Amino acid sequence: MPEFLTPKETDLQNRCSTLAHQVAALDPEPFSTDSREQQIRGLSQLVKVFDITQPASCGGSEGTALELTIARETFGSLNVAHERGLLGPTPGLLESVKEPLRSNFLMPYLAGEMNSGFGFTEPADAQRHTWAEVDGEELIINGQKSYVTGGAKAHFINVLVDIPQSGKTMLLIETSRPGVTLTRKFASSDGSQHAAFTFTNVRVPETHAIGPIGSGMKRALEQVTDVRMGIAATCTGLCSFVLEHLAAYLKKTDGKKSLARSNDLTRMRYGGLRIEAFAVRSALYRTARLIDIGQNAVNEASAVKVLATEALNRIIDEAIQIIGGQALTETHPLTQISSRVRALQLAEGTSDILKINVARGYLDLDKGTI
Ligand SMILES: Cc1cc2nc3c(=O)[nH]c(=O)nc-3n(C[C@H](O)[C@H](O)[C@H](O)COP(=O)(O)OP(=O)(O)OC[C@H]3O[C@@H](n4cnc5c(N)ncnc54)[C@H](O)[C@@H]3O)c2cc1C
Repeated sequence: MPEFLTPKETDLQNRCSTLAHQVAALDPEPFSTDSREQQIRGLSQLVKVFDITQPASCGGSEGTALELTIARETFGSLNVAHERGLLGPTPGLLESVKEPLRSNFLMPYLAGEMNSGFGFTEPADAQRHTWAEVDGEELIINGQKSYVTGGAKAHFINVLVDIPQSGKTMLLIETSRPGVTLTRKFASSDGSQHAAFTFTNVRVPETHAIGPIGSGMKRALEQVTDVRMGIAATCTGLCSFVLEHLAAYLKKTDGKKSLARSNDLTRMRYGGLRIEAFAVRSALYRTARLIDIGQNAVNEASAVKVLATEALNRIIDEAIQIIGGQALTETHPLTQISSRVRALQLAEGTSDILKINVARGYLDLDKGTI
């Protein structure tokens, strides 16, 4: 639970809070996006937070699931979690790759010299899932991916492909390879940038397979669990931010709205939101601890991702409703958070799919706790 932290975890929480306050105090205007990111990165390195996302084998300080949760929740609770540069790039799927992928891609990626994307989602009208054929020591890839975040700036994409007779496999494909075409660039409502790609007879050496051939789905799902925990932690922190913002509004005693602010109906609604946030925060910390003791927590991470994203969207919606039109102005923090987080009920597994997965986990696989 969030209360029972060790002195080391409390120290990390304090450093993250200091960093978040520094970032919140930065003037948003005078920087380009890149120099702002650099400045935040420098601040994060100073308080030794930046590299907790990176494994010791790559020179990082390798935070536990709980430490990463503490960091992200703290950033969310001060509404800075969307700022780039707070945390270093995570190796994700590439964590245990061998040479030549390690020197050519993983290390430059962790050093910020290369960008990558994750190619999992297929367009709705795809005739066949992206596939690869083995040709000697090479693989030939054909197909398409539809929603690669950061794809336009990516030097390489980690792509899930189907290899007949062998199964789903993750392959690293450089975007500069002949046959890779960026067909569309678009942005979603949260402001993130995406790209769609086609692959036409793209050849890569077999050493571009990330892990053994046929282990792709398992690897993709392992990465997805970490990302789901990250989303859940950020959203949990944002629940606290929104509730503090709403509390400050409700406590105001000036003006003609003060009576409406303090009536029982509004208090009941506010109390309901706090109860929801309490449940989400408890579930988040419990799940992080399950991961750290090595328990299979795929179902719990799915559950807490659904809980946190859905609770946050409800809490923001209700907070805007209670505060009224002033909270809907473009520059208001609640409106800005609202457009950033709506996408999170879809990204990394829609709520409906994750609910079905949790049911399947228990009914068919005897997995998952309550
Ligand atoms: C901000 C953002 C970033 C993303 N980044 C990436 C990325 O980097 N790489 C990547 O590969 N993808 C990415 N995605 C895509 C994301 O993974 C997909 O949007 C998501 O998996 C849902 O797929 P879909 O959009 O095709 O919707 P669909 O799968 O078509 O779902 C549409 C609706 O149908 C429901 N549904 C679908 N199938 C079932 C079923 N069997 N039973 C019940 N209900 C069902 C869903 O729950 C949903 O409500 C990103 C999406 C967003 C919003």
